[in-house]
Formats: sequence, structure tokens, C-alpha cells
Amino acid sequence: MAGKVLQAVRGMNDIFPEESAGWQALEGDLRTLLALYDYGEVRLPLLESTELFARAIGDVTDIVQKEMYTFADRNGDSLTLRPEGTAGCVRAAIQTQSMRGQTPRYYYMGPMFRHERPQKGRYRQFHQLGVEVFGLPAASTDAEVIALSARILRTAGVTAALQINSLGSPAARAHYRTLLLDYLRPRRAELCADCQERMERNPLRVLDCKVPTCQDIAHLAPHLADHLDADSAAHFALLQSLLTALDIPYQVNHSLVRGLDYYNRTVFEWVTDALGAQGTVLAGGRYDGLVAQLGGAETAAIGFAVGLERLLALQALQGRVAEAPAPLLFMGALEEAAVARAWQIAERLRDEGISVVTSGPASFKTLMKQAVRSRARFQAIIGAGQLAGAALILKEQLGEGRWQGDLDAVHEGLRSLGVDFPQPAPHTVRNFATARTLS
Ligand code: ATP
Ligand code: MG
Repeated sequence: MAGKVLQAVRGMNDIFPEESAGWQALEGDLRTLLALYDYGEVRLPLLESTELFARAIGDVTDIVQKEMYTFADRNGDSLTLRPEGTAGCVRAAIQTQSMRGQTPRYYYMGPMFRHERPQKGRYRQFHQLGVEVFGLPAASTDAEVIALSARILRTAGVTAALQINSLGSPAARAHYRTLLLDYLRPRRAELCADCQERMERNPLRVLDCKVPTCQDIAHLAPHLADHLDADSAAHFALLQSLLTALDIPYQVNHSLVRGLDYYNRTVFEWVTDALGAQGTVLAGGRYDGLVAQLGGAETAAIGFAVGLERLLALQALQGRVAEAPAPLLFMGALEEAAVARAWQIAERLRDEGISVVTSGPASFKTLMKQAVRSRARFQAIIGAGQLAGAALILKEQLGEGRWQGDLDAVHEGLRSLGVDFPQPAPHTVRNFATARTLS
């Protein structure tokens, strides 16, 4: 009896070539753009010790309280699948001392894991591009990081609005916290159950609660930006003038506090209403205290993360997602005897950077069907006739282009049909088999 068909874990998606082409195009664009700002890629483990996230993200955040995939490994050590990238990046930078006397700009791209309720735009394994910059405390860095985030969205063809806020220094925030609690306590009964529960421990979280009644209350709350320490206020003012100078429109959102504990001063988000409830595409901020908090030297830091699924969803809404590239040539072999020669020609073309999809041995009818399905620009069929000296025919599948000639002259044939041969990559090693003639 056949076993039950196994399913992927809920909220974790398989990505097939029709879709991965869009991913690759986006990832390629992002890498090119990050190089424009001299960011270098870090590739970090997906698993970290649970303690790292508890210490970095904060015990009273949604992530640590209810979203982490945590388990004991065979040694009994508590490990967690990374729910975000900043903690691991800081851990790695401290451990390898890569920040000493340096101001590195890092990026990472890859899966993150959060046990949330899966819905459109919200998954349990999702992907982020994150960037982190260390050792640069000035508002000019915040402006450049935000300019990078703006360019990422522009490159992806995504329209979203920039919201910024300042959380000030930890001391200013602690003072504001008491003001906010004084405001919230008399209104406690009107808040949602979550907010009533977290209000005393983390009253700032009430400000970014999505429940409408909580939002109404948050709206009239005292503004953190009105209670900043002098240095943070100057930092925030300078950032705003730099954003204006860079032509980056923004709104100050007084309710923007971010769910994670480690932020100070600048926080920002790019939001859209095109994705329903999942409105935040990109989010980040300054976290000058985290490196020291995790045992490193006092080091300024700022970063952001952008959800790739949400970027792709926005691109899809605009019909901008890249399609899987089609091969240039479909090469079919009719009989077993024709396979070696057909494959040999295909290998030689690949040496020159031409993409070829092969099929056979199969009947002419089958090959024709496969040729169309392959979406290749040209097709060629090799059989006993060609082996005996008959001309090979190259045919354009959607156009009128046609060439016929010798099996050894396929390159010239393609050239005469207007194909530009890409320069082979410098590391291309010619296929050894094609140097010999198979009989
Ligand atoms: P949200 O408010 O949507 O839960 P968040 O504040 O938890 O987002 P961050 O931790 O700031 O999100 O992560 C940065 C980005 O990663 C988000 O703006 C979003 O694009 C993406 N993201 C976060 N969680 C998920 C998820 N479960 N599925 C898909 N993308 C996600
Ligand atoms: Mg979340």
C-alpha cells in the first residue's frame, strides 16, 4: 500500500523554476546594487544558541515570546533557527573581531524562521536581505543607509512610503516610558488584551499595535520625539535635513517604535497598503547598544532587513517579476545512434556560452512537442539521415528564421540567424570530449 503523501511543514514553501527565476533576478539586482555601496556579503549559520536571541532581541518581544523555533540538540544545548539576522551578524562580528578599528558594511540574504500564523505575505520560513553597518555613529550614516533602502525599493520597482522616528537614548526612552505609562494606565480598559498584558512591561509596544482602538489611543499619546535627549534630537534633525537633500520624501510617524528592544535613535520602515495587513516591506534602525550588550566593545551600529517575499509580491502586482530564461536551442536526437553526435554538438555550443536543451532518442512527433514546450528560440533534430551526410536544419520556433548546412557548421548557422555568441567565461575549460571525434 502506498504511504501517505508527505507534506512540507506548514508555512514553509517550495520554490520551483517558474518562480525561482524571479528570485534570482531580484537577488542579482540586489547584489549589484549593494556593491555600489561597498557592502560585503556575510554567510552566517541558520542555527544559533537560543541565549543569543533572548539577549539580543529581548525577552518581552513577540519574536522571543512566541515565534522562535527552539529545540535541544543531541547534546542538550538549546538552539534556535534564526528569526532575524542582526543578532547572528553581531555575534559573528564580535567573535571574529572584524569590527576592531574597522567600519565594516555587511549584508546577508537568506531564510529566517518564525512560528507565526501563516497567511499571504507571512510565512514560517521567509527570506530577508539584511544589512548591518558597524562603527559609524553619525546621522550621515543613517541617511546613507536609508538612501540604500530607497534604492533597493526603486530597483525592485516597488512604491512604498518611508516613515521615520527617533527612539532617543536609552535614558530618554526610560523617561518617556513613565510618561507613556501615566497616559496609558487610565485608558487600560480600552486596550486590546495583548496590550493590557504587555503594557506594564513594554508600553512602547502599545504604540505599534495594529488593533484600531489601540491605534486611536496611541495617536493621542505623548510623542517620544518631543522628549528626546539633546544629542538625539540634533541627530534626528540632521537626518531629516539629509533626507531632504537626497530627495527622499519621508513622514515622521510618532507611533513607529519597532518591536525589537535593541533599537535607539533612528528607526524607519517602508510601508505600502498594496499587501493588505502585511504592510511593512523593509524595516530597520540604529542599535548602538547591542554590540556591547552582547559582550563586544562599545560600537555604533545601524541596519535594516527587507522581506524578499513581500518585495516579490509587490513586483508581481505590477507584472514585473522576471520569467525563467528559455534556452537558445532545442537539440533532439531521433535514434540512439544519433545521441552521441547531438550531445557532442550541444557540448561544443555550451563551451561558447550557448544554452541548449537536449532530448531523445524519441520520435519526431514527440521531439516536436518537446521543442515547443522548451520555449527554445531555435530547434534542430539529428537522426540517421544527418549522420549519413544529410543537411541539418536549424529553425526559429516562433519566427521565420531557417538555416541548413553541415553538422559541423552549427555555429555558423546560428551566427547567420543573428545569434551573438557570448564571450565564454575566462574559466571555461573546453569540454574534452568535443576535442575528439566520436565515430
Ligand atoms: P510584521 O510587522 O509584518 O510582523 P516585523 O516587524 O515582525 O514585521 P521585521 O522583524 O522588522 O518584521 O522584519 C523585516 C521584514 O521582514 C518585514 O518588514 C517583512 O518584510 C519581513 N517579514 C517579517 N516577518 C515575516 C514573515 N513571517 N513572513 C514574510 N516576511 C516577513
Ligand atoms: Mg512580526
